[in-house]
Amino acid sequence: MNDATRPVQFIFAGKAHPRDEAGKALIQEVYKFSREPGLETRIVFVEDYDSYIARRLMQGVDLWLNHPLRPLEASGTSGMKAAPNGGINLSVLDGWWREGFNGSNGWAIGAEIDDGTTEFQNEVDASSLYQLLENQIVPLYYAKPDGKLPLAWLQLMRESIRSVTPLFNTQRMVKEYTEQLYIPAAQAYENFSRDGCGAAKHLSQWKTQTRTDWPQVQVSDVQVINKDRQSISVGEFLQISARVHLGALDPQHVRVEAYHGEVDNGDLRNPTATVLNQSSQADGNGNYIYQGSVPATESGTYGFSVRVVPTHPCLMQAHELRLITWS
Ligand SMILES: *Cc1c(COP(=O)(O)O)cnc(C)c1O
Repeated sequence: MNDATRPVQFIFAGKAHPRDEAGKALIQEVYKFSREPGLETRIVFVEDYDSYIARRLMQGVDLWLNHPLRPLEASGTSGMKAAPNGGINLSVLDGWWREGFNGSNGWAIGAEIDDGTTEFQNEVDASSLYQLLENQIVPLYYAKPDGKLPLAWLQLMRESIRSVTPLFNTQRMVKEYTEQLYIPAAQAYENFSRDGCGAAKHLSQWKTQTRTDWPQVQVSDVQVINKDRQSISVGEFLQISARVHLGALDPQHVRVEAYHGEVDNGDLRNPTATVLNQSSQADGNGNYIYQGSVPATESGTYGFSVRVVPTHPCLMQAHELRLITWS
């Protein structure tokens, strides 16, 4: 921070929730550090963070630092606000930065560790942060090839403005909330409240009955009928068949799906669901055969299961009842 030719200044601003004792203690620690001899101008704590302070910070800052503990970043709107002001983000790949970082509009701190301790993740992130600052960010900031302007830094500022601003903004947020949530909610209100709330009462009764009947649902006899399932070539299809016991449930009110994806340590990576169609009438005991085909689009090790979910034209969300039965 006190380098004679390439100094760095950290500016902190923020408020902890009144009942967030750990947050308040952290701010005290930062404040104490900023009072240490020799660091008074290198670490600055700006009190009473609010939109007045935020606006001025955004307009003046070169680099916006954000290092949440994954996956606790709810969104990270402040980094989005830095970009249109020419600020460059240096952030853990969490919250919005997972989508916003494109490899050339800022920096990503650390590597994501799947099963290490929090302390280990913190150590990895801290070491990455110092490496990035020392070896990439500070040299780039101070490099003035023409003796006047930090040309590479300016290019990063342009890329930050160009790539972040059109995507992460209030206009898009309000538009998407309106199209995806508010308008469907308003339409659903109209539909449900018409005729003395007829549709709402009907859906409510259907939900109660479905919850009562659901424990009878069973999937058995899942088979691949066209192939030796050990090996299949790209471009071919797997014909999947399953026997589904629905008991008292109307087949019109269930959806049967093959859920498939690349096998990764026992999990399915990037899974997709393909609907299976009813291919037989009930056998008298409420059993049906469902079939469908799943394309093999890429090579690798793939797996699938079959699942049954309830469905009704008035549901607002596919998994609203939280009922699902797997093979
Ligand atoms: C942007 C902003 C926030 C939100 O910041 P995050 O980094 O998204 O948590 C909070 N307070 C003020 C005053 C802001 O301007």
